[in-house]
Amino acid sequence: MTDFSTRAVSNNQHFTETEARFNALLKATSDVIYSFSPDWSEMRELDGRGFLKDTKGPTLNWKENNVHPEDLDLVNQTIELAIAEKKVFYLEHRVLRADGSPGWTISRAVPILDNDGEIIEWFGTASDITERKNAELQLVEARIKSDQQKRFYETVTSNTPDLMYVFDLEYRFTYANQALLTMWGKTWEDAIGKSLLENGYEPWHAEMHEREIDNIKENKQPIRGEVSFPHAVLGKRIYDYILTPVLDDRGEVEAIAGTTRDVTDRKRIEESLENSAKDLQAINEELAASNEELATSIEEVAMVNQELILAQDQVAESQLAFRLAVSAANFGTWFIHSTTREFITDARLKELFGYYEDEPLTIEDALAQITKEYRPFVASKLENAIYNNGDYDVTYPVVGLHDHRFRWLRAIGNLKVDSSGTFSAFTGVVMDITEQYLAEAEVKLAAENLSMAIEAAGLGTFQINAIDRTFVASAKLKEFFGFDPDDVVPYEAAINQIHPDYRQQVAELVELTINEGGRFDTEYPIIGNIDGKTRWVRAIGEMQQRNGKEYFTGVINEITEKKLDEIRKNDFIGMVSHELKTPLTSMKAYIQVLNYRLKNYEEEFVIKTLERADLQVNKMTTMINGFLNISRLESGKIDISLQNFDIAALLKEIEEETQGTISTHELLFSPSSEIFINADREKIAHVIHNLISNAVKYSAFGTKILINCDTLKDEVIVSVKDQGMGIRSSDAIHIFDRYYRVEGEHMHSISGFGIGLYLCAEIVKRHEGRIWLDSEYGVGSQFVFSLPI
Ligand code: ADP
Repeated sequence: MTDFSTRAVSNNQHFTETEARFNALLKATSDVIYSFSPDWSEMRELDGRGFLKDTKGPTLNWKENNVHPEDLDLVNQTIELAIAEKKVFYLEHRVLRADGSPGWTISRAVPILDNDGEIIEWFGTASDITERKNAELQLVEARIKSDQQKRFYETVTSNTPDLMYVFDLEYRFTYANQALLTMWGKTWEDAIGKSLLENGYEPWHAEMHEREIDNIKENKQPIRGEVSFPHAVLGKRIYDYILTPVLDDRGEVEAIAGTTRDVTDRKRIEESLENSAKDLQAINEELAASNEELATSIEEVAMVNQELILAQDQVAESQLAFRLAVSAANFGTWFIHSTTREFITDARLKELFGYYEDEPLTIEDALAQITKEYRPFVASKLENAIYNNGDYDVTYPVVGLHDHRFRWLRAIGNLKVDSSGTFSAFTGVVMDITEQYLAEAEVKLAAENLSMAIEAAGLGTFQINAIDRTFVASAKLKEFFGFDPDDVVPYEAAINQIHPDYRQQVAELVELTINEGGRFDTEYPIIGNIDGKTRWVRAIGEMQQRNGKEYFTGVINEITEKKLDEIRKNDFIGMVSHELKTPLTSMKAYIQVLNYRLKNYEEEFVIKTLERADLQVNKMTTMINGFLNISRLESGKIDISLQNFDIAALLKEIEEETQGTISTHELLFSPSSEIFINADREKIAHVIHNLISNAVKYSAFGTKILINCDTLKDEVIVSVKDQGMGIRSSDAIHIFDRYYRVEGEHMHSISGFGIGLYLCAEIVKRHEGRIWLDSEYGVGSQFVFSLPI
């Protein structure tokens, strides 16, 4: 170029001559051709050659069009320098290419000088060096990058305790990291490019790796191994290594990279782990051995246990044998083999079935003796017991084969599996329960008969639980109360059907019986629930224990007819008594008048006869009054008029009265302080009079009669005690019944109708009191009544 420019300048004068040659040269070059004004402000011409845009006419804004903005300063400076020194312009810089994209050019321009040495024009060429420039830049970048990567790897490889290295195909180290160099005790310069042997490897070791490298070259597969050799500082160590092929872009092995790790410590841990595993296994083995021993001893224990069980069985068996022996007199025994059905029995069993002792007896023979109604039942029970271990406790009638005796037998059996497990033994006992069975049957029959009798008699039966008053009634009883036989009748519902006048009284009597026991016997009318009919019933009951529970049980029978008869009779008696009373009153009046008129009459007979007539009239009046009272009582016409009075004072009055009238007995009234009660004074007086007159009537002349009055809790208790004939307990239970009189020889001489005590009891009851009797036959009686205070 320098040559060219020099030549161009030196040939200035011959410009024209050479122009043709020059033009030809220009045409031949591929470079861009350009020319500028002397100060580069104006581009006169540019032939871009496809690289830069062609400029045909002179242009002033060439820098904007052609120069890359970032290199503009550089271009300007170089131009300035070239102008100042009138020297060649030479610069590599970036341009804007024809398509506007950035490119690189190398541009040269020479100044054309005139004769005075002044620049007339600049003339130059520029080549497209974009590709080369880009390649150069990439190269630089790649270098930077690889340097960077190398730094990274160096950092990594020199800081790891692992050994890292690269072999070339001739087994020479081309790389060794710091750890490896340290291990060798060498520097990079000493070690790199050297073979394994040269780096101090023992021959066997070097050969081993060389063989591995050959292998990798051939198979392109990594190899892993373990090796042990001495370390420069640490002594003998164990290493784990991996050799890996490094492939070039054609896939051929170009180097072998390796890493080696010191696994001595890991190995030691593994070893100790292995050792402890071995220890563990040894312990396990020992354990297993002792387990075995234990199992053996358990087995032994089990065996001992079994023996024990067997021994217990034997004991149980001998106990059974003992029991059998004890009751040998009564029990027959048998044994049945479950598979052979062999039937072994003792003499007693044969006897029970009517067989002789020396006669053979099969199961079927035995069954044949059972009455035919029971035979299938017993047979199926037996089979079920032997083959299904079913229960066997059966009672059946047997007719003996030879003796033809009828017996009720009870058989109880027990199935036991034989210790061999092959068959079962069904053994048991048979006993004669004929007597017991018949007795039970009789009782059952009697009970059945009784209930049939109750039914036949048209009696209703009931049962009341003492604790919760649960009420169970028979169909007949429900009928009495006007319910359907299927109705569930609670106790309260039954009570509600009782006539209101009697309801409370009956309910109280029930409670009294439940709480204090004794006999319950009462009559009352019921108004039927559905039919509304009035029925009179008599209820008799008592407390009974059943299954440890207390029940008030009894029967009820209908007495409507009888009751109506009685009522009619009462009405009649009442009417008759009333009618009799009028003439009797007149008769009494006449006798009194006569008595008065004959006061001074001498004849004693007449006087005496009149006195007797008066006495008889009095007796008759008492009797008729009794009848009247009774009919009044029955028809509810006796009224109780309550008043507050001192019963001690009443007794005092009675004492004075009796002192004048009764001389046959010794009446002893024990002293009493005042006791006020609320009662019908006249009626209570009547009760006491009645008891005293009975005591007089039924005890011997001159005996004592004790009258006592006391308080006990909230009651006043009055008693009349005599030393008379006494009353049997069989009579005592009826003594307060209406018209009841004790029957006996000396009773004929004592007149009475059996209504006195009945009236007394009614009066006391209407005062909510109680009346009772303590008596010993032949010794005396004590009648007692109580009234609430
Ligand atoms: P009556 O005396 O008119 O027969 P009661 O009703 O007074 O009637 O007596 C009923 C029966 O009780 C008597 O028939 C008698 O047998 C018996 N009785 C009553 N009181 C006594 C007594 N104190 N001792 C023995 N028996 C008695």
